[in-house]
Amino acid sequence: MKKVLGAVGVLLLAVGVVAAIVLVRTWSTPPLATAAPTGSYTPLKLDEGEVVQRFAGAVKLSTVSTGEAPPSTQDLDALHAYLAGQFPRVHRELQLEQVGHGALLFTWKGSDASLPPIILMAHQDTVPVDPDTRARWTRDPWSGDVQDGVVWGRGALDDKASLVSILEAGEQLLQQGFKPRRTIYFAFGSDEERGGAQGAMAIVELLKQRGVHAQLVLDEGGAYTNGLMPGVSGDLAMVGIAEKGYVSVRLSVQAAGGHSSQPPPQSAIGILSQALVRLEAQQMPARLAPTATAMFDALAPMLPFPARMAVRNRWLLGPMLISQLSKTPSGNAMVRTTTAETTFNAGVKDNVLPTVAVATVNFRILPGDSVADVLEHVRKTVADPRVTIAPGDEQADASPTSPVDGEGLRLVRETIQQTSPGVPVVPYLVTAATDAAHYVPVSTEQLRFVPYHLTPTTIERFHGINEGIPVSDYLNCVQFAAQFMRNAAG
Ligand SMILES: [Zn+2]
Repeated sequence: MKKVLGAVGVLLLAVGVVAAIVLVRTWSTPPLATAAPTGSYTPLKLDEGEVVQRFAGAVKLSTVSTGEAPPSTQDLDALHAYLAGQFPRVHRELQLEQVGHGALLFTWKGSDASLPPIILMAHQDTVPVDPDTRARWTRDPWSGDVQDGVVWGRGALDDKASLVSILEAGEQLLQQGFKPRRTIYFAFGSDEERGGAQGAMAIVELLKQRGVHAQLVLDEGGAYTNGLMPGVSGDLAMVGIAEKGYVSVRLSVQAAGGHSSQPPPQSAIGILSQALVRLEAQQMPARLAPTATAMFDALAPMLPFPARMAVRNRWLLGPMLISQLSKTPSGNAMVRTTTAETTFNAGVKDNVLPTVAVATVNFRILPGDSVADVLEHVRKTVADPRVTIAPGDEQADASPTSPVDGEGLRLVRETIQQTSPGVPVVPYLVTAATDAAHYVPVSTEQLRFVPYHLTPTTIERFHGINEGIPVSDYLNCVQFAAQFMRNAAG
């Protein structure tokens, strides 16, 4: 009896110790680091009407990448001519090169060649307007109308706000006599919406040939968000420190076909369906990658008590945290390589057995997993020699993760604190693809942030209907780009 009591006592003591550690860790969450010391900040004095009109003019010019082709040379030339007219000093005083298919590389030479350069990125192309939804646009998608405090049009958010604001910031800084200490590149791809092969990748090749290695690239892929993070209210500056990889896998089954009156036990459709059911049922394992832990560390002070307890005690509650995250599509995308079955084609007639069935499964790869890991997982999970498995041509491993204590994130954080004081900076994993990933061979850090505001409503404008950006956000993009250059190269 004594022994039993002794064992119970030890158990209770252990539970007590664990509970104490959990509570102490939860209560000792470091406060928000929103007031770190920063250098001085004087906003640019802008003629806002003119600045906004210069931007709206670029939105009026269609530069669409479709499934088949990047924007035409003619469309890109028209945009280039417009930008040259609006930003004459940038075009006169910086070196400008056209690279690949109409990509633009501006070089603003720094005075100190020993400092690694920085690269500000954006892309010139936009997605098309879906003809099926065209009627739901309240204005012409290429009107560039400025109404109700918003600049409307395809590409206003993605990504011409970033593109034009960088040029505007450069023009304003030149007018002030700003001379960068380190070299600043403006690198503007032309086919980001198609993967960047003829734009960003061509610029990267050129920089490689020249032996350029930048400290950082700053691209799209993060923003101020509000209402997109469950349990947290107020603005958050979500800065992408990595992006997921990509591969689509084609599964196909060949069969004898024939009349449906005397079918075999399984048709091509049945065999393929079984493989697809297995892939959904058994997904790649979930884990907290460094991108997720960096995000939770930043969010911890803002989370309600139970969530804070879980993220502050990942040593104990990690598995519970992962299982909770896995329950929502956005949380699940954060903790694992996702499996999305996207196409299925088979059969021609109700009384004919199909001779072939084909499906596509799209995987978005978590940092730490690779394309090879995905293919291995598919083979093992399907485990059926009747199913042929073939990866698509478009493949990318997940990007490396930029350090949370690196110079790049420090500069981004400082600029955010100056231009939007008090907004917490949250590093995170971008689940979509950006051109920034191509720059890994020529830069130490790749960061993704454009300072406009996204809410559950406005995020739908991305690639969506009635795309537009508030004037205040656009002006903030100009201030941010200028201040970032001053902080990084002043
Ligand atoms: Zn974009």
